[in-house]
Amino acid sequence: MALITKAVKGTQDMLPEETGRQRYIENSLFEIAQAYGFKEIRTPVFEHTELFQRGVGETTDVVQKEMYTFDDKGGRSITLRPEGTAGAVRAFLEHGMFNDALPKKLCYILNCYRYEKPQAGRWREFQQFGVEMFGSASPAADAEVISLANSVFEYFCIKGLELHLNSIGCPECRKKYHAALKEYFEGRKSELCGTCLERLDKNPMRILDCKSPECKSVAEQSPVIIDYLCDECREHFDKVCKYLDSMGIEYTVDPRIVRGLDYYTRTVFEFVSTSIGAQGTVCGGGRYDGLVSELGGPDTPALGFGMGIGRLKMLIENQESALPDDTPCDIYIAPMDEEASLVTMALASDLRSGFIYAETDVSGRSLKAQMKYAGKIGARYTAVIGSDELKENAVKVKNMQTGESETVSLDNFEEDFMRLVVQQSAAELGEAGDGVSFDNIFGF
Ligand code: ATP
Ligand code: MG
Repeated sequence: MALITKAVKGTQDMLPEETGRQRYIENSLFEIAQAYGFKEIRTPVFEHTELFQRGVGETTDVVQKEMYTFDDKGGRSITLRPEGTAGAVRAFLEHGMFNDALPKKLCYILNCYRYEKPQAGRWREFQQFGVEMFGSASPAADAEVISLANSVFEYFCIKGLELHLNSIGCPECRKKYHAALKEYFEGRKSELCGTCLERLDKNPMRILDCKSPECKSVAEQSPVIIDYLCDECREHFDKVCKYLDSMGIEYTVDPRIVRGLDYYTRTVFEFVSTSIGAQGTVCGGGRYDGLVSELGGPDTPALGFGMGIGRLKMLIENQESALPDDTPCDIYIAPMDEEASLVTMALASDLRSGFIYAETDVSGRSLKAQMKYAGKIGARYTAVIGSDELKENAVKVKNMQTGESETVSLDNFEEDFMRLVVQQSAAELGEAGDGVSFDNIFGF
């Protein structure tokens, strides 16, 4: 029984108390992306396993240890997406977006799946906000993508975040670097974990990304890529830095970051916080000029980032920056009896078609119980309708905050109620209330 009453390890429910804030974050992310010209794309939750093997890279932790892979009933090997880039690139190719006006800018919010050890800030199902830009090799594109991520943190007033920046060069400069790294790690082979021993032959740079403390300490004195950059890569990196300087975005050059995914070239970056514990990397990204052609497309420079929304939310909550709470009820209309209930149902339905959050009784409760419920759901206004109100065709609407009541006609209820709300809010705000409208009070 325990199995059916408990969510699978590493997954979590998002309850109504939280979904309002989540939606606010998601909407804000899309609005920020929109200001940079990134348009939303939605791709499937699962793809052919091979896409991730090729697109994320055989030597990465993600592919080696973390994928949810299974055979479907038709015998295809399917994988739940562990990240968003591979699917976006696949869609870019499948729909011939390389023929569109370039750069093509895409963004998404999606659930990702990784079989990892669940802990604070690390789940097996998690949300990522990601952006991808295709078709620009210029360092200005790198700066634009970094600036977008930075805007997100500025928007939510997050402090204490550091932008770590590095260049991992192109395949040419990396050849020399790989040789130097190999030589270094060969000398300290006995200190490496089993996975890193394998990486030593296939892709020694992955060792720098290993989470084991022993490998981390060995990696500390290893040669750094930035000393091995070719002239073009060096110049590209310097220009990215110049753009960031001119936009007033602070960064630290961190020669140790190489990013977990195989397809990165040149610029790589991470936004790191120390305030949410060990899982402090809230956003990681960079350039992946080789990926589109690796997946069979025309040579297309590209770049992007992935931001963990769960970790972003932890940061926002740490700051105690106010996120809007769930929308409170605008008005609770209580019927005194069944006859009145016919009217309150109709009134509520009229209000709702104007997107006013109205509630009335659907449980046959006493007036006292109804008022208790109205209090619990935070109704801003209440109105009680019984035989007197029906006779007079009017009802007193009570402002629950001020206790003030005003009579509103039942015939013209929606309009009169809205006028009342506007009047009362403008009066409360005094001069600041000039220009107040129903929409900006009730948050449309
Ligand atoms: P980490 O080093 O924390 O494992 P990563 O390098 O594997 O991160 P990416 O593949 O770059 O992460 O994914 C981008 C972002 O997605 C991360 O910076 C993080 O915010 C988020 N993320 C990655 N894995 C998880 C997870 N298991 N649970 C929650 N968020 C995650
Ligand atoms: Mg990881």
